[in-house]
Amino acid sequence: MGHLERLRNIGIMAHIDAGKTTTTERILFYTGRIHRIGEVHDGAATMDWMEQEQQRGITITSAATTCKWEVDKTVYQLNIIDTPGHVDFTVEVERSLRVLDGAVVVFCGVGGVQPQTETVWWQSEKYKVPKIAFVNKMDRIGADFFRVIKMMESRLNTRPVALEIPIGSESDFKGVVDLIRMVALYYHEEDQGSHVDVKEIPADLHDLVGKYREKLLDVVSEFDDLILEKLLEGQEVHAEEINQVLRKATVENKIVPVFCGAAFKNKGIQQLLDGVVKYLPSPMDIPDVKGINPHNEKEEFRKASDDEELCAIAFKLATDPYAGQLTFIRVYSGIIKSGMGIYNPLKKRMERVNALVKMHANKREEIQSLHAGDIGAVIGMSSTTTGDTLCEKSNPIVLELTRFPNPVINIAIEPKTKQDQEKLNQALERLVREDPTLQSKVDEETGQILLSGMGELHLEIITDRLQKEFKVSCNAGKPRVSYRETIGKAVSVEKNYAKVLGGKEQKAELTLKISPLSPGSGVVFENKVKSEQIPGSFVNAIEQGVRECVESGVIAGFPVIDIKVELTSGKYNPEESTEMVFKIASSLALQEAMRSAEPVILEPVMEIEVVVPVNFTGEVIGDLNARHGRVRYMEERSEMQVVTAEAPLSEMFGYSTQLRSMTQGRAVYTMQFSHYEPVAKSVLEKITGTFV
Ligand code: GDP
Ligand code: MG
Repeated sequence: MGHLERLRNIGIMAHIDAGKTTTTERILFYTGRIHRIGEVHDGAATMDWMEQEQQRGITITSAATTCKWEVDKTVYQLNIIDTPGHVDFTVEVERSLRVLDGAVVVFCGVGGVQPQTETVWWQSEKYKVPKIAFVNKMDRIGADFFRVIKMMESRLNTRPVALEIPIGSESDFKGVVDLIRMVALYYHEEDQGSHVDVKEIPADLHDLVGKYREKLLDVVSEFDDLILEKLLEGQEVHAEEINQVLRKATVENKIVPVFCGAAFKNKGIQQLLDGVVKYLPSPMDIPDVKGINPHNEKEEFRKASDDEELCAIAFKLATDPYAGQLTFIRVYSGIIKSGMGIYNPLKKRMERVNALVKMHANKREEIQSLHAGDIGAVIGMSSTTTGDTLCEKSNPIVLELTRFPNPVINIAIEPKTKQDQEKLNQALERLVREDPTLQSKVDEETGQILLSGMGELHLEIITDRLQKEFKVSCNAGKPRVSYRETIGKAVSVEKNYAKVLGGKEQKAELTLKISPLSPGSGVVFENKVKSEQIPGSFVNAIEQGVRECVESGVIAGFPVIDIKVELTSGKYNPEESTEMVFKIASSLALQEAMRSAEPVILEPVMEIEVVVPVNFTGEVIGDLNARHGRVRYMEERSEMQVVTAEAPLSEMFGYSTQLRSMTQGRAVYTMQFSHYEPVAKSVLEKITGTFV
């Protein structure tokens, strides 16, 4: 078996508190990477290594960890990508979903399918990620394995296939019956479940086991005619035959094998690990990766093979206190070797691979090369950011980027002392590079630093990191909506400008035409003037003036978007003109033009999807209406109503709390940026503090 077939890139996904971290800790323990199990409530779990995570007991970063697991005398390598569970971090979840091939979804045996489980489930469906399920906390009062399976059917609209059933329940939970091998497995607390006793199935479970074994064989024979025939003829089917069919159906996303256990009580983890190897895809089982050749815009595919040309994606940036900048990458094809140079086609730069490492949460191991299909981190890259493709310069490829949503909420940050100001600047530079959904800028009028991010919790975590990790003393303001400005009509402005600069009069003459663009276009600059009239370097200066000017609009200083700026005519004088004077002139011309082009303030409008039990639909819609929301459509999914609506972000603060109390915690929602819309007059007066 080649190394690719022995590789599994997996994510572990769950609702907060289902036991993802506890399960991951056990996986690391049984695979021999750690010798003592750290517990989440002690703040000692290995994967939750950032201080915030330890304090909150939640996992925010998606660190990739490598370990090994043996099945049938073959050693497999598992790369575990830790995915975060909170809605504000859905970008992180999506980013990791891009690079993993399969996922383990952890369910709480008591809570079953919880709101966040649904969110991550639908996200993983979007990326067609094959999954296996682990029903955890079987030792807790009220745990019910079979109810969780029913919930998976009704709420997730999926096809769960139980491969185990629990032996004993609640405090009496002892082990599991393996429905494929038809044996009972018991775990002992004394050795932290390390040794598994294989015994006969207890007599009192025979009926239940028979029923679920039959269900399992029904599924298997549905996918395989040969097995169906054998069963009809009353022949024996072997474990290997069953596993082959289950593997194929799982990889094709048709079924979800279900395991059970209690991570905290060290029960059921080894079986789950076997399941990862047996049923989840290797890099060879997934479709070839698709990209674009940046030279001719043609589609290209790369096979998972060391012999193909190099293609890798950077999916996460992190800062290691010792090694410095770590860039986590997944190699899709080819080999990356320590010491080589690789090309970043988006940044148009060569990057140097100073060293390659494999991470074990916060520890690292240096390696010499990283092969197709594998995940690791590069030390030494300087311009690559999250989502960039890395390849050979002679054979460039750009993989499709996950579209990073616009940061729509901001807060003002004020350092307490001058020293803190410097520390703050350095810290922000690093954080912004790590996280494409975070932006920082200086408010020109107040001199304050404004941080923009994806949601209230996102910015809360960032300010927390600034204080704890980067030791910056600072005050943070209340979160506010991040507005934009644009124009309503086309306008041309001619500018004849003269200014004494450096003791000498300098002159610039230019005409700018501005016109509105469709939403999402950003700022487009076009030059229509021949180089005899204005040389290239001067045009660059003019564009620079434009770019700086659009950073703050003419109504209230918000960034300007969806506008085209054309340089339609101009004249320069070799004796009296400089680039500087053209830059100033273009800024002034643009400001003048925008003032007479019916400028408007835009606000972010969010798309909200609420999945709510039918009996709460009325309350949810009433509340959305009160928030100036518009219901777009409604759809019934199992016993749930799916309400899709749009509402201004300014009306959506505190929504999660309100929704929870309105629906007894039974509703799930996702909210993402949809588009910008001109603000209502009343809002405009509030923002600008004047009557208009
Ligand atoms: P995460 O938020 O999904 O990472 O969940 P954690 O692993 O942090 O677990 C949440 C809480 O549930 C912690 O207090 C764990 O100790 C506890 N827990 C996890 N697994 C089990 C289990 O199998 N049984 C019981 N009784 N508690 C568990
Ligand atoms: Mg956790």
